[in-house]
Amino acid sequence: MASPAIMVIDDDTEVLNAVERDLREKFGRDYRIVKAASGASALEAVHELQRRDEVVALFLTDQRMPQMTGLQLLETAREIYPDAKRVLLTAYADTEVAISSINKLLLDYYLMKPWDPPEDNLYPVLEELLEDWRANVKPSFEGIRVAGALWSPRSHEVKDFFARHQIPYQWLDVDRDEQVRAQVESRSGGKLRLPVVFYPDGTILVEPEIRDLAEKSGLPTRASMPFYDLVIVGAGPGGLASAVYAASSGIRCLVLERQAPGGQAGNSPKIENYLGFPNGLSGMDLARRAVTQAKRFGAEILSAQSATGVRLQDNYRVVTLLDGSEILCKAVLIATGASFRRLEIPGIEELISAGVYYGAAYTEAAYYQDRPVFVVGGANSAGQGAMFLSRFASKVTMLIRRDTQWSSRYLVDALGTNPKIERLFNTEVVGVLGKPGNLEGITVLNNITQEKKTLPGAAMFIFIGAQPQSDILRGLVALDENGFILTGRDLMQAGKYPPGWPLDRDPYILETSVPGIFAVGDVRFGTNHRVATAASEGAVAIAAIESYLNSL
Ligand SMILES: Cc1cc2nc3c(=O)[nH]c(=O)nc-3n(C[C@H](O)[C@H](O)[C@H](O)COP(=O)(O)OP(=O)(O)OC[C@H]3O[C@@H](n4cnc5c(N)ncnc54)[C@H](O)[C@@H]3O)c2cc1C
Repeated sequence: MASPAIMVIDDDTEVLNAVERDLREKFGRDYRIVKAASGASALEAVHELQRRDEVVALFLTDQRMPQMTGLQLLETAREIYPDAKRVLLTAYADTEVAISSINKLLLDYYLMKPWDPPEDNLYPVLEELLEDWRANVKPSFEGIRVAGALWSPRSHEVKDFFARHQIPYQWLDVDRDEQVRAQVESRSGGKLRLPVVFYPDGTILVEPEIRDLAEKSGLPTRASMPFYDLVIVGAGPGGLASAVYAASSGIRCLVLERQAPGGQAGNSPKIENYLGFPNGLSGMDLARRAVTQAKRFGAEILSAQSATGVRLQDNYRVVTLLDGSEILCKAVLIATGASFRRLEIPGIEELISAGVYYGAAYTEAAYYQDRPVFVVGGANSAGQGAMFLSRFASKVTMLIRRDTQWSSRYLVDALGTNPKIERLFNTEVVGVLGKPGNLEGITVLNNITQEKKTLPGAAMFIFIGAQPQSDILRGLVALDENGFILTGRDLMQAGKYPPGWPLDRDPYILETSVPGIFAVGDVRFGTNHRVATAASEGAVAIAAIESYLNSL
């Protein structure tokens, strides 16, 4: 199969040849560089590539061209190669038009002319976009096949694992393909044990553990050294940011991740408000970039490796792992996050992030402009969510299990006087309506009268509490009554050190009640459940950890 193409378009022959030369030098080994001197000839080339069943990875076009502007060309090309990255080569005068095109999702980036030196002004941007393209494009291939069903949580877990590690696979739905179903049953003793993973080398794994998949895929699951300066538990945004800052400061660090990097953020289809990404990025893309960055600085990241506990040994900290092994280190950073309590309703899993959202889904609100939505829960987070959503939605119906709300007075008053918000008390969600990927309504039950009714709506935002994943520190460090880890000033009681604190200094910011054990992100008391917060706490914690390591 031919290499993917990078198309470069400019009506100025001198510029066209210069860009082509620079692109060929850097990307010529992996991509075919195709050049065109006008929008029309570019479109001809695009149609020819399409006819030959070849792919375009990236368009790099001048904006000001006679007959057809760069943006007009990109708009047409997008219909043929929707996944290709689109970059405009602009003069300063065109930056406004480029920025507004980013907002309309027509453009991935704009570059200013001249781009010399290309090592600084051209290659880094294009490399990143091409890496993105490779990670998201689904090439036809003879690779791993995963046979499963949409209703099987284990199938989702396995798909998620492959997706988060950018391992391409083909999905086979046993409910849609009799042949696949028969194949699966024959591999699992006549039963439907899902999922079944077929590897090109003939290996077949039935209901595999994530660890089996990681090992089979050649991902590191065992630490390469017995001792580290820092062990980070959890590879969500908090853990990954910590790894980047630690490794870049020369701290030898190991990251342990129970599943695959990304954490809860990996479930977010689009994080719109993360600094530096004007057209948003998915949680998975963020994780992939962070993993690459952390590894580039020398951090070691293990997948499918759970920490089960932490104990103290003199000045050292020992992290115990599920496989029974132990890792010695000077400091530990807990970034194990929280898991949002889930609603157990048939069919809901297929709607997650496509009409059903857990926790901090504020970024989705604008998509539901003038449409009715639901909020599940009666505490502060649900109330705040409902208030926020009422700015966009035509109506917000709150479904509250109890006969009253358990949130701040001001919020209860605000909810009561908001004309767009209706609160249904003693009401539980018992069903979801719609197709996978498209919520159309819900069924609710009044838990006093037992009356059921169907309500139409486009989205359901669930705020029924988050559970911190702090079990591995239970009994070792101070937690609040809900299990969130207390750190820094939150540990101090009436200005005094926490009970048992052995040092004559205050705990560092983000340090727990045990010196040398730190916590960041959703697992920590007082955080606000945001990607950016977890990531920035990671950076702050590393500064404190450096002080701690220097004090040893
Ligand atoms: C569906 C969804 C959408 C969201 N959308 C947004 C959004 O658009 N914008 C926004 O700002 N926030 C959003 N959030 C919230 C945001 O994702 C979290 O605030 C953020 O991910 C917290 O990061 P963290 O690193 O603290 O923890 P997490 O992301 O929870 O990561 C913790 C990691 O630790 C691992 N782990 C746990 N225990 C262990 C163990 N014992 N051993 C090894 N590993 C372990 C977990 O597997 C996980 O990967 C969303 C959350 C959800 C659920």
